[in-house]
Amino acid sequence: MRTITLKTTVTVFETIEELPEAVKLLMHAAIEARKNAYAPYSKFSVGAALIMENDEIITGNNQENASYPSGLCAERVAIYYAGAKYPHRKVKAIAISATSDKNKVNVPIPPCGSCRQAIAEYEVKQKSPITIYFMGETGNVMKVDALKDLLPLLFEKSFLT
Ligand SMILES: [Zn+2]
Repeated sequence: MRTITLKTTVTVFETIEELPEAVKLLMHAAIEARKNAYAPYSKFSVGAALIMENDEIITGNNQENASYPSGLCAERVAIYYAGAKYPHRKVKAIAISATSDKNKVNVPIPPCGSCRQAIAEYEVKQKSPITIYFMGETGNVMKVDALKDLLPLLFEKSFLT
């Protein structure tokens, strides 16, 4: 028997103001997208903005449904749209921001497990890392250099061959 230790490095920015200018713009795009979320059930609105290799920004927000599992998270709305529109273009980074009608969200909100798996698919497909920045409404912004940092030992297509 042996033990393997998995390490993840997370960079923490005190506030959005500490982000590099281009990332700040990306996060503001996520915040704008968040405002159009359709979240009548959870009251938890999320916006995601991803930047492609040609610097085009694509946004998404959560879309809920009366049949709860039929809804979709902001991150997947954005990355599936990017994949549908530009199947051969790489994604460089994703910014995520969340807010709630119930409480002030002042902690970074990472992508859920399903979104991590979905984003991982594109990271594997494009053979280059996707940097993830995430925050609440205010407060710290967290950054990981690649999606795989949030989902070690991920399930990916090489297992299916
Ligand atoms: Zn999700």
